[in-house]
Amino acid sequence: MRKITLSNGKTVEVECLSCEITSGRIEPDGGVVMETDYFHAHQDVAYPIKGLIILASKRHITCFDELNDEEKMDYINLLSKIRKAQRDVLGIEHVYYFYNEDTIHHFHTWMVPRYEWMYEFGRSVESVRPVLLHARNNMNNKENMRDVMHALKVLTKELKD
Ligand SMILES: [Zn+2]
Repeated sequence: MRKITLSNGKTVEVECLSCEITSGRIEPDGGVVMETDYFHAHQDVAYPIKGLIILASKRHITCFDELNDEEKMDYINLLSKIRKAQRDVLGIEHVYYFYNEDTIHHFHTWMVPRYEWMYEFGRSVESVRPVLLHARNNMNNKENMRDVMHALKVLTKELKD
């Protein structure tokens, strides 16, 4: 078991945070962006970046070669559907995808939109962590949070249609 502090300040003990979120036992701030039988998409608003999405499997697996055939199809369809929505309603031109198999949670892919300000942290994989930390530590203000939540709403609506 692992102790996790939620954004509302509550501390919970969980076996796997991804299992809690994808099963609906823990509701992510900003809600569910999209859900299928196999996957669950939401934003971790602890990293307030407009249009950032985490796509997690519902099954507790960690490695890419553990996906079954239905999950593989669903995964690629969802990734491209979310990507298209990011472009169509948020004007996001480029996205970085990050996924590590040695996670303390389970299978999830970060879809991190690129914005102009991020280039001061580099242009490739080395910039991902500094960008996320910068967002978490310096962009957690009212105005930006409002933008992030609005983008999330627009994206969720687009993916429903
Ligand atoms: Zn899990």
